Amino acid sequence: MNKLSIDLNVKKFNDIEILQNIISESVLYTTSDIDANITSVSKAFEKLTGYSEKELIGKNHNLFRDPKTPNSFYEEMWDTLEKNRQFKGELKNYTKNKDVYWTSVTINPMFDKDGIKIGYAAYRENITNTKKLEYLSTHDTLTNIYNREYFNKTFEHEIKNHKRYGHNMSLILVDIDHFKNVNDTYGHNEGDKVLTKIAQIIKNNLRENDIVARWGGEEFVILLSNTKLSGAFLLAEKLRKKIEIDIILKQKKITASFGVGMYTNKESKTTFFEKIDNALYSAKDNGRNCVVKC
Ligand code: GH3
Ligand code: MG
Ligand code: MG
Repeated sequence: MNKLSIDLNVKKFNDIEILQNIISESVLYTTSDIDANITSVSKAFEKLTGYSEKELIGKNHNLFRDPKTPNSFYEEMWDTLEKNRQFKGELKNYTKNKDVYWTSVTINPMFDKDGIKIGYAAYRENITNTKKLEYLSTHDTLTNIYNREYFNKTFEHEIKNHKRYGHNMSLILVDIDHFKNVNDTYGHNEGDKVLTKIAQIIKNNLRENDIVARWGGEEFVILLSNTKLSGAFLLAEKLRKKIEIDIILKQKKITASFGVGMYTNKESKTTFFEKIDNALYSAKDNGRNCVVKC
């Protein structure tokens, strides 16, 4: 080999190395064995997760798992991969510092030259910022429950389901009693804490498919899919009692009034809301801290 060809080979080798480095620095990829134990990671993945390659090799992918991601997500993922198909999905995970990050992940099964599956290669796109924006546009910043815009969208969707499939749908309006007094006596900050606590009490007592949103200042709306009036009434009573017995504010008992109704085919969205609003007014008229159904 003459000197020129040696130089060219060295140059080629460097180019591939440089290219590999660029990919490792910029692409979030990992490979794993068939049991999801990590076999390699890119530098970009180390940087995102805060774990070094040394800490990750041999560890299982479930290290990053968000405990709230439903099992059904992973069941569907493994079902797809076991059929040797590509899986795509959006995943919420945690870094070493316990910060949340979201990725859009694509996982491909890998095979050896004899066609035997040897593991998986996954590449990801960091979608954390998109998810943060999505959260901000659908949630109320004070109480962290859904906002009115998100509620309206879901409500339209539920009405369509009702019309197409005849699904029952009920709604609960909640209004805190004498809330103005809370602000006037204990200050706006204490008022804000009351709103946040009540939102949490409601949220903690709903089923997975029910949604609660902040409807206005100190009013909440709860959308119950597949629920008849009797079920909605029972839930409203349960929430009323939970709020009544909870020590939301040390100095003063906090209560709320409830209006409950079930959607029927004949009514428009406006008339549906009006009837529940009227039920809520009746609850106020009846002395507050009670539930009225219509
Ligand atoms: P009622 O029992 O008839 O419902 O009386 P109320 O005092 O609760 O009702 P009203 O509608 O007169 O007062 C609602 C109050 O809610 C007035 C407003 O200052 C307060 N409010 C609205 N939004 C917020 C908020 O984000 N934070 C706080 N702290 N107060 C709020
Ligand atoms: Mg009000
Ligand atoms: Mg009120």
